[in-house]
Amino acid sequence: MKIIVAIDGFSSCGKSTMAKGLAAYAGYTYVDTGAMYRAVALYCIRKGWITEDHVDETQLQAHIHELDICFRRRPDGGQDTILNGENVEKLIRTLDVGNAASRVSTIGFVRRELVKRQQAMGEKKGIVMDGRDIGTVVFPNAELKIFVTARPEVRAQRRYQELLAKGEQTTFEKVLDNVRERDFRDTHRTESPLKQAEDAILFDNSELTRTEQMEKLERIFDKAVHNLSL
Ligand code: C5P
Repeated sequence: MKIIVAIDGFSSCGKSTMAKGLAAYAGYTYVDTGAMYRAVALYCIRKGWITEDHVDETQLQAHIHELDICFRRRPDGGQDTILNGENVEKLIRTLDVGNAASRVSTIGFVRRELVKRQQAMGEKKGIVMDGRDIGTVVFPNAELKIFVTARPEVRAQRRYQELLAKGEQTTFEKVLDNVRERDFRDTHRTESPLKQAEDAILFDNSELTRTEQMEKLERIFDKAVHNLSL
C-alpha cells in the first residue's frame, strides 16, 4: 500500500534531505513545497512586485495562475524546480529569494493556490511532501506526519556552510538572525502558521548525523506502513 508522508518543520532543519532520502527509500515522489513558494517569490522579484517594504498583491493575484511550477528529476537523483519552462533551481536557493518566499507565503491567496496544486499532486498517494503546513492543512489525513526540529544554532551552522559552499558572502551571525526571523514569521503569520499537528511525530535531529537520521526515519516509515497493513 502507498501512503502520504507529510514532513513539516522549521527552516534549515534538514527537512528536504530527510524527505528526499525517504522518497528514494520508499520509491515515492518527493515534493518540495518550499521550492514552489520560492518560485513565486522569484517571479515577483523579477517583475518588481516585491520591494523592501511592499508586495504588489494586486498584480500577483492577477497573474498567479500563469505560473507553471513543476519538478524534474536529475540523473544524479536530485530534483530541479522548473518555472514556466525555465530551470530556476539555483536561482531560488539564495537568501534573498528565501526571504521573499517567506513574505509571499504569508499571503492567503498564494497559499490557497499552492495548497490546491499540492493536494492534486498527492491524489495517487506514494508521495513525500515537505513544508510547513503539509500535515495540518494540505494533507490533514496523511498516514504519516513528521515534525522536524533542531536548535537554531545548529540550523544556522548548517545553512551557513551550505551558503559558503555556494559562494555566497555572509556571516554566521547574519544567517542565525535570518533563521530566527523566519522562525518568527513562519510561526506567527495568520495564514497557516507553522505548528506541529497533534498526530505528528516530533523528530529533533540536532544531535543526529545524516546516516542516523535516515535510519531512524526509515524505521518510523516501515513501522507506519506495517501498522496500517495489519
Ligand atoms: O522550506 P523553504 O525554506 O524552501 O521554504 C521557503 C519559505 O516558504 C519558508 O520561509 C516558508 O515561509 C515558506 N513555506 C511555507 N509553506 C510551505 C513551504 C514553505 O510557508 N509549505
